[in-house]
Amino acid sequence: MILVVGGAGYIGSHLVKDLVMEEDVLVLDNLITGHREAIDQKALFIHGDIGDPFVLKTVFKNYPIKSVMHFAAYSLVGESVLDPQKYYENNVGSTLNLLNAMLKHNVKNFIFSSTAATYGIPNVELIDETIPANPINPYGKSKLMIEEILADYASAYEMKYTILRYFNAAGAHESGEIGEKHVPETHLIPLILQHLAGLRKNISVFGTDYDTPDGTCIRDYIHVTDLAKAHISALHSLLNGWNKSAVYNLGNGQGFSVKEVIETCEQVTGLKADVVYCERRAGDPGRLVASAEKIKRELGWEAERNLEQIIQSAWKWHRNQKY
Ligand code: UDP
Repeated sequence: MILVVGGAGYIGSHLVKDLVMEEDVLVLDNLITGHREAIDQKALFIHGDIGDPFVLKTVFKNYPIKSVMHFAAYSLVGESVLDPQKYYENNVGSTLNLLNAMLKHNVKNFIFSSTAATYGIPNVELIDETIPANPINPYGKSKLMIEEILADYASAYEMKYTILRYFNAAGAHESGEIGEKHVPETHLIPLILQHLAGLRKNISVFGTDYDTPDGTCIRDYIHVTDLAKAHISALHSLLNGWNKSAVYNLGNGQGFSVKEVIETCEQVTGLKADVVYCERRAGDPGRLVASAEKIKRELGWEAERNLEQIIQSAWKWHRNQKY
């Protein structure tokens, strides 16, 4: 049985929907940002928090967990600057509880959701995993702290782990049953689609003076289903015992500017956006694009869905939201 912590959240729920086809899955989620309705019915569900040692003891004593996948984190850069305590308490403190409970119950396989925010503002076209981590906000730092703890736990306690550094996750499940729903929403693609669906007055572009061809920020958008498939590849490799503990980028290797994303949303929906050009948002690097060559080479995974497919799936979800 695989324990998926945070399996009611955006990325976790997409992973669970695919993973239940091949494994028994137990979801543990405190439902603070996740949605009960997003959890696939084939998965078992426990409502609880990894900060609570009693909950963890119950889970590890009563279920035959062979691996843990950890999606339960706060992930808003701006919020992490204003309230670092929330980020260090949950993303570091509670994750440490989880790792220690795993050790206690001899569960040694761990897949960790990390982030491109660990790189900070690298001045390179394509970011590969040899670029030194240098996070510039508490969110990125909280993720890097766990990455470092994992390396130490691996050498001291034989924990085996895979760290997956996501670039910009977007899109929705092909079934149309689950998708991206954050409250409040801060991410570019859902905000554009909400605007085009008439739920927001306009779409703001944060910064037009970046050192990029059209002056707006460039990001690497990756379909959430491609992310889910990468987790399943990583799980197979951990369970088959041939993978060394490692860190991998998850991206498409292709960057799109904010303006290009808006244009693609207009093409997919056939609707015209009302765009408002604003100041830069604090903490936004101008360009973040992954090299995902390492995971392709070592685990045979690569992203299969392009920006248009990402937006098509997200639009399908937006027009037919189930929760
Ligand atoms: N962005 C924007 N307007 C918005 C939301 C986001 O221009 O209303 C920009 C943001 O500055 C960044 C890109 O879109 O360059 C992606 O932002 P998002 O919040 O989706 O993801 P992030 O890259 O911050 O993780």
